[in-house]
Amino acid sequence: MAWGGGGGGGAMFGPSAPSSSGQAGLPFGGIPEELMEEATKLYATEPEHAKATLPFAQRPSAKERERLTLAQLLRAYPRWVISGSALVIVISLLLQAGPLLTEYAISHGMEHHKSLRVIVSCAVLYLLIAFVSVYFQRQQVNVTGKLSSRVMHDLRIRVFTQLQRLSLDFFTEEKAGVLMSRMTSDIENLQQFIQDGVSQFALQGLTMLVITVILFLTNVTLAAWTVLLVVPLLVAFSVWYHRASEKGYLLARDRIATVLADLSESLYGIRVVTAHNRQRRNIRNHRHVVGAYRDANAYTGRVNAIYGPSTLMIGILGQGVLLGIGGHMVLAHQLNVPQLIVFFLYLNRFFAPIQLLVQQYTTLQQGRSSIIRLRELLDTTPTVDELPYAPDLPTIEGRITFEHVEFGYLSGHPVLRDVNLEIMPGESVAFVGPTGAGKSTMAKLANRFYDPTSGRVLLDGIDVKTVSLRSLRSQLGVVPQEPFLFAGSIRTNVSFGAPGATDEEIETAVDVVGLRDLVSRLPLGLDTPVHERGQTLSAGERQQLALARAFLAKPRVLILDEATSSLDLQSEIVIERALDRLLEGRSAILIAHRLTTAQRADRIVVIDDGGIVEMGTPDELLALGGAYAVMYDAWLASGGRDASRATDEV
Ligand code: ADP
Repeated sequence: MAWGGGGGGGAMFGPSAPSSSGQAGLPFGGIPEELMEEATKLYATEPEHAKATLPFAQRPSAKERERLTLAQLLRAYPRWVISGSALVIVISLLLQAGPLLTEYAISHGMEHHKSLRVIVSCAVLYLLIAFVSVYFQRQQVNVTGKLSSRVMHDLRIRVFTQLQRLSLDFFTEEKAGVLMSRMTSDIENLQQFIQDGVSQFALQGLTMLVITVILFLTNVTLAAWTVLLVVPLLVAFSVWYHRASEKGYLLARDRIATVLADLSESLYGIRVVTAHNRQRRNIRNHRHVVGAYRDANAYTGRVNAIYGPSTLMIGILGQGVLLGIGGHMVLAHQLNVPQLIVFFLYLNRFFAPIQLLVQQYTTLQQGRSSIIRLRELLDTTPTVDELPYAPDLPTIEGRITFEHVEFGYLSGHPVLRDVNLEIMPGESVAFVGPTGAGKSTMAKLANRFYDPTSGRVLLDGIDVKTVSLRSLRSQLGVVPQEPFLFAGSIRTNVSFGAPGATDEEIETAVDVVGLRDLVSRLPLGLDTPVHERGQTLSAGERQQLALARAFLAKPRVLILDEATSSLDLQSEIVIERALDRLLEGRSAILIAHRLTTAQRADRIVVIDDGGIVEMGTPDELLALGGAYAVMYDAWLASGGRDASRATDEV
């Protein structure tokens, strides 16, 4: 436990201590005097986590690009793997000492010499070996436990890093719940598999091998009969089971992902669900997806139910036949009784691992299907990819050029066709036009959320495809239509794009967007906790907070997707003012849903049906009497002028 130089009476704790909750923006009133001693004791036993070094690069490293396999995961920890394997070998050998000692006690202590000393020695040795083997088994469980938790820790980070790296189209296509299930149930399955499955498989497999050798050493004829009678049947059954259960488990993985996706969607959209009385229908739908998952599980259950008892039956039948053959051999003096007994003791042990393997096979199959699903996720390459060693974009003035840009989300369905546009440094350009015309798509191309199918997007004459994504996006500020709040305080949310911002800078940003009044009214001020689901802030306040975020990040270019309508007049005025401050000296693309905003821009671009239909200053477009003039007249007729006058007067 690291103790910082707290000075005075108040000790400072390390990274996991209460002081960090203050940093995370949660209210923390300090530890009461009477609890200090207990808390000190508690923190003294807290593990110290090393500071994570995060080598996040847009491109996966060569190691990360390697296909995900179990061997690849385990290779990172050779020491654990070697000691685990050595323990498995030792245990599988030790476990077979019992019948040998029994045979020795019978033949040397009872049959020929009748020596109590031999019998007692065998019994003591038997116990000793049992104790040693229990000790080794404990060690082995320990080692595999550590190994699996480390491997899983690495894998979780690898999957999360991949998710952070993937392009936006991936997330629009893949449901959040499905991704959550990759991170939760798939990874847990794999952990279970590495913890129990792999070592049990190795142990039981090895045990079968050792026993086969011992069976042959005990009596070749009987051993040969065993292999001939039992093994072909077992192999045939196992091949069938492997195929059937893999199909079942993959189906189950997909269906649990659907269950989780449905669950998360219903929870996330609970307000809309309630408002539209969709509860009953949602329950019916959930019953359907849960039912499909149950069916998949029932299928694997049926397959297991056939395989488990069948292998048991094969074992019993085999033993019955072998008893006949063995008995006949004893009568023919080809075998003595202790040899037959020891053969049967080992034969029993030959079948026991098969039963255990059958049980473990479930874990194996689940682990395998999880690896397959995780591999698919890790193999996905971002569609918006950085060139290898892409240089950083130098500090730009803010000239944005669209050069013969064509784009469609789905091939064969173009959304933008041959768009040409130049936005000068410091100029604010409003995109207006009907919903679905392609306004947001233009903005998404500017900061490379997507790449054009053909044509280029340039910033200060540099193709955005040629520079590092990090340097590109650090100079572009995006204020989305529906700002997202992260769990934390207002402070951490405002400084999201500039985590090193000083208190003073944060205060200024809050002032500029007009949030000062709200913050001073809150009991904890900037440290008041907010989070996305809490909906503690009104739509307007969330918009202001997003503007403050953009202001603090000081981007050269601002892309603002204006909130449509949810703002009252007062908030609208506040936001207009905030915008004026925010746009000072910056180039900006404003996706304007309200013409008040469009009218304030330096230039208006009217987009319709995937192309630019009109372009000019607000006055020019009004004088032109084209599409914009029509929209403007309609807006005036619907009372828009009152709003704009009110704005101007304030
Ligand atoms: P606007 O901002 O002008 O309202 P958008 O640029 O958002 O319009 O959308 C333009 C067209 O592209 C619309 O027809 C819309 O349905 C389609 N579109 C938008 N986003 C996606 C997406 N992620 N996948 C497929 N189509 C999309």
